[in-house]
Amino acid sequence: MSIERYGNKYELQCDFCSNCIDDFEDFQEAVDYKKANGWKSKNINGEWFDKCPDCVEEGE
Ligand SMILES: [Zn+2]
Repeated sequence: MSIERYGNKYELQCDFCSNCIDDFEDFQEAVDYKKANGWKSKNINGEWFDKCPDCVEEGE
């Protein structure tokens, strides 16, 4: 899971490239953004990774 807290903001970071969206007011807002914008969560060896739409398009 790559939603990180910075001070009182949250930042969503792709684990496969340097794509990053910050400025979320809370964790749920970042989760909703992911769902609405084609981000995918992927479990690899028991760890969760976040994939941005650009990386999703490139294939699994
Ligand atoms: Zn990416």
